[in-house]
Amino acid sequence: MNTRPHQPLTAILGGGISGLACAFELQRHGHEVLVLDRRAAPGGRIRTQRQDGFLVEQGPNSMIAPASGAEGLIERLGLGDQRIDKGEGVRHRYLVRGGRVHALPIDPLGFFTSGFFSLKGRLRLLAEPFIGRGPEDETVAAFVRRRFGPELLDYVFDPLVGGLYSGDPERLSIRALLPRLKQLELRHGSVIRGVLAKKWAGMDPRFDPRRRMPFSFRQGMAVLPQRLAEALGPRLRPGVRVEGVHPRAGGGFRLSLRERSGTTSLRADAVVVALPAYAAGRVLAPIDPALGQSLASIEHPPIAVVTQGYRRDRVSHPLDGFGVLTPKVEGRNVLGFLFSSTLFARRAPEGHVLLTAYLGGARQPGLALLPREELLALARAEAADLLGARGAPVHAGVRYWRQGLPQPGLDQGIRIEGLRNLEGAWPGLFVTGNYLGGVSTTACIDSAHAAAARADAFLNTREGSCRKPRTPTAAAG
Ligand SMILES: Cc1cc2nc3c(=O)[nH]c(=O)nc-3n(C[C@H](O)[C@H](O)[C@H](O)COP(=O)(O)OP(=O)(O)OC[C@H]3O[C@@H](n4cnc5c(N)ncnc54)[C@H](O)[C@@H]3O)c2cc1C
Repeated sequence: MNTRPHQPLTAILGGGISGLACAFELQRHGHEVLVLDRRAAPGGRIRTQRQDGFLVEQGPNSMIAPASGAEGLIERLGLGDQRIDKGEGVRHRYLVRGGRVHALPIDPLGFFTSGFFSLKGRLRLLAEPFIGRGPEDETVAAFVRRRFGPELLDYVFDPLVGGLYSGDPERLSIRALLPRLKQLELRHGSVIRGVLAKKWAGMDPRFDPRRRMPFSFRQGMAVLPQRLAEALGPRLRPGVRVEGVHPRAGGGFRLSLRERSGTTSLRADAVVVALPAYAAGRVLAPIDPALGQSLASIEHPPIAVVTQGYRRDRVSHPLDGFGVLTPKVEGRNVLGFLFSSTLFARRAPEGHVLLTAYLGGARQPGLALLPREELLALARAEAADLLGARGAPVHAGVRYWRQGLPQPGLDQGIRIEGLRNLEGAWPGLFVTGNYLGGVSTTACIDSAHAAAARADAFLNTREGSCRKPRTPTAAAG
């Protein structure tokens, strides 16, 4: 790293992937950074553990390529040789209908001709190009019901939103969750016409489900934050809870902190808030109480991740896919199972398989708070019923996320505008995180890089760079 003398200090609040990626980018551009995180280990929701010989992901399992921001970061960190693509056994997506698990082709045309949908549902789909444009924003459920009919909502979008966001399509904004679908409607008057106009196969690969490839790392997802933490070295300070961001009369900010030793404070010339929405709301409240309240009000329903390892011959299902999702109308106790040892090689010991079940979310928040033994029993019963798992698993693990993923509703647009105004009103203050441009790790990295670019521009102006030197240690404010 090449830092210049007398540099302004940028404090980055939060050492999840958002904060770490932002800090690394700013450090790469020669800026002085300090990342503060309340936990001892970096990575936030990215948690990989070795348990009973299985490689267990308790947070994200994979990232999806193409993702230029994340892939560029991985190359810069020298992690390219650690990267692994999805396993060869991944051939299907599975959905539950009528209490049974159905294989669906990954290719979209095969998906709709597969016989999974009723004739009525398919005819309704063909009417989509003739449906008029809807409002600027609406819930995912309203959008899908209006354009594609109720069967696609129940059997495609509901399980998808449950699987990706642990969310309820009746409450989430289509603009926030699936902005590209809404754009197709707004620009082309129809999603199907929009897709055809872009000649599905040859267009932007982000629109093409066949070219979207999950990838991870040999040692699991936690390799990414670990490598970022190594690159930051002493510029990552764990065990520090940020309690508030306060503007200083002469410019810059004072952070109130709580550490083991008690309360302290720190001066910073610029601040990047890379916290979950509920924590960002608290620390920004001294600057903008209404916005702080609005951020704190974003729902994060709890979710429980239950991992189960079985001997291969104890599970009758071929497990030849990503996993299985369950529509709400099927009334199951899991949002779905990921076939973790099919998705990536060497997640389970020889002769064994690893299943990851997700319970709770907006659909059944109470399930995610059940005691460990009850959760294990539910996940085991579902594995038996849906996947033919027999006997006791050789590995069973539970990770509780009491505040899971953010659920952007129809008020998200106002909130984003509020954050833009905040950055405009307080030069040197920047906000990023998984509640802004999508929850996926790759979306977080893109949002973090965008925040780093805004901070870089600020720091390169006279306003940012003429500040007095700061040492990255907590000092009486
Ligand atoms: C169960 C689960 C499965 C998922 N699966 C996938 C997947 O397969 N693929 C995918 O791409 N994404 C997935 N995600 C989403 C993705 O993991 C997250 O959206 C992303 O990691 C969020 O990163 P972040 O840095 O924005 O927030 P976080 O990871 O939450 O990091 C925020 C950090 O801020 C710190 N912090 C909080 N309050 C304070 C404070 N007051 N002071 C100091 N520090 C504080 C926390 O300790 C934490 O380290 C999943 C998430 C979950 C929970």
